[in-house]
Amino acid sequence: SAVGTTILRTEGLTKSFGGVHAVKDATVTFLDGKINGLIGPNGSGKTTFFNCVTGMIKPDSGRVYLHDKEVTRWAPHKIARAGLGRSFQLCRTFPRMTVLENMLVAVQPHSLADYLGGSHSPETVERARRMLARVGIDHLETAEARDLSYGQQKLLELGSTLMSDPPFVMLDEPAGGVNPSLIERIAVLIRELNAEGTTFLIVEHNMELIMKLCDHIVVFDRGAPIATGTPDLIQSDPRVLEAYLGV
Ligand code: ADP
Repeated sequence: SAVGTTILRTEGLTKSFGGVHAVKDATVTFLDGKINGLIGPNGSGKTTFFNCVTGMIKPDSGRVYLHDKEVTRWAPHKIARAGLGRSFQLCRTFPRMTVLENMLVAVQPHSLADYLGGSHSPETVERARRMLARVGIDHLETAEARDLSYGQQKLLELGSTLMSDPPFVMLDEPAGGVNPSLIERIAVLIRELNAEGTTFLIVEHNMELIMKLCDHIVVFDRGAPIATGTPDLIQSDPRVLEAYLGV
């Protein structure tokens, strides 16, 4: 698919919790081939939006399209199979498995039994090691995931997301709780993977990271988009400053 076409679109997406409109009538577009960003102040609905799109929670109303296919209310594994890889705000690694085992499990999510039988091909193990090297934690291959630092666990999670070779990756707060040198490593990796053809949507509170990394940014405030565009446009938009600074 051509760069500049739509990879993800929502129409009137709405989700409330009790009386709280977490996402309210959100119509947004993200672009194929780009590094897309979704930013907004705390509580603006970013995580709820992310969860509605990835199938983790069901929206009350509205529609979600991946390319031109409607995926509203699809189960997460079905959305993943449609080409959406995702990484979670809180780490979802298997704490008592080794780093390498975590990578291998990610390749065949439906055959844990096979994995436990040790049936991975040498090629798959080699691929897992190469990916660990790319995310910079190959030296930790035999460590248990629970013994990694928070930032290293996020790198492991990113690496395991990439093992299934998803054409479109959504990352929820990749920089959250991660030290600056690891943030830089994640940023470099995202740029490299994007240059190789992977589309990203990064949901992040860290405005600085989004501004230097993303081509196309959507800003949320109170559950809906208030601005869309390039970093330059977003940074000079008074509505964005108001939402962030509360002026
Ligand atoms: P963000 O990710 O931008 O910080 P969230 O999507 O987490 O925003 O939250 C948006 C609003 O919805 C907030 O007011 C939050 O308190 C509320 N909210 C989110 N998830 C829940 C939930 N499971 N139950 C009740 N309220 C929630």
